[in-house]
Amino acid sequence: MKKIYLLLLSLLMVNALYAQQTLIYCGNLIDGKSDKVQQEMTILVVDEEIVEVKKGYAKPASGDQIIDLKDKTVLPGLMDMHVHLEGEASPTSYIDEFKLNEADIAFNATVYAKLTLMAGFTTVRDLGGSGVNTALRDAINSGKVIGPRIYSAGKSIATTGGHADPTNSYRHDLMGDPGPHDGVINGPYEARKAVRQRYKNGADVIKITATGGVLSVAKDGSGPQFQMDELEAIVQTANEYGMITAAHAHGAEGMKRAVQAGITSIEHGTLMTPEIMDLMKEKGTYYVPTISAGKFVAEKAKIEGFYPALVVPKALAIGPKIQSTFAEAYKRGVNIVFGTDAGVFPHGDNGKEFGYMVEVGMPPMKAIQAATIIPAQMLRIDQKYGSIEKGKMADIIAVNENPLENIHTMEEVVFVMKGGEVLKR
Ligand SMILES: [Zn+2]
Repeated sequence: MKKIYLLLLSLLMVNALYAQQTLIYCGNLIDGKSDKVQQEMTILVVDEEIVEVKKGYAKPASGDQIIDLKDKTVLPGLMDMHVHLEGEASPTSYIDEFKLNEADIAFNATVYAKLTLMAGFTTVRDLGGSGVNTALRDAINSGKVIGPRIYSAGKSIATTGGHADPTNSYRHDLMGDPGPHDGVINGPYEARKAVRQRYKNGADVIKITATGGVLSVAKDGSGPQFQMDELEAIVQTANEYGMITAAHAHGAEGMKRAVQAGITSIEHGTLMTPEIMDLMKEKGTYYVPTISAGKFVAEKAKIEGFYPALVVPKALAIGPKIQSTFAEAYKRGVNIVFGTDAGVFPHGDNGKEFGYMVEVGMPPMKAIQAATIIPAQMLRIDQKYGSIEKGKMADIIAVNENPLENIHTMEEVVFVMKGGEVLKR
């Protein structure tokens, strides 16, 4: 008995002296910060953290684990700053609203979360759902569900009849009068209440719909839907609670107002003018283009019955414009952050956005940084996430080819590690 006890004790001591490391051999390494691809590198991981990044293939000590990615390109875990994990567009989505209970939505969301992580996205910003998105974040953080780290907006904030008013187009007796609790505000007083309610519900970010939108069953897809005093109340209140803000915007006037009010990011930005681009540079506003969503809705709008009749002309007019706006904004120097609007199109296809960005002039390395270090800065988590460096969280992925030579390799992520845990290999 005494012998066994001594043996156990000595094993424990050895363990305490020597933390077991994982050595990741990287044929190519894109670290998220440097503009260069580094060759033949080793990332050393202990528990959930990167403890060192070394040139060459470091020799393992006994007990070390080796992950051989010598024929791959290794990158930081990707970040998509615009997803909706609660659902996925289909011809039945509009009817589903009346059929699915919260529990159904939650089960579906776990599937979409896993697809997103397996596509290499270790961090996402969920910009609007019912609140299940916030519960999903907690379930993932506690290890009960497999998915990316989520920064959740809970339910987005709209104005009466505006994009994201949850009872648009309902029969009058079903419409009710949704208020700040349900994400509908009129006036600065209700705007503050809606922000504080989201804070209370555990949201990380505030999302508003500054202009009309494509997929809501309402006529207008681009006009302004918030007034200046409402926008200012939202941004100021959110800032006081330490939350960043995001504004869905297609039309120029609503977009300009949101930028003037100090919004953190503009989503879609379809009809962005050069004047607004300059204003965004001046104010430090980020731009999240979501080209994937624009392309998808424009394509599906041609299929009869995929969207309600009121949605079709908006999808055809707005969808195809996003990519050229993105190209202009990039050229003019607006700070671009990767975001797709996944959920409007199938989850897991997020990586296609890279191709759309590169196709109209963004260098592949810039597109990768827009999905790694830049969103980490926007979320204010760049001390811990967004690059492969000593002291950062071990969120690491790999692709088969060098994305600087073939950007479409980003659509097929073959290795995923999140917080030091290998989830795809
Ligand atoms: Zn969206």
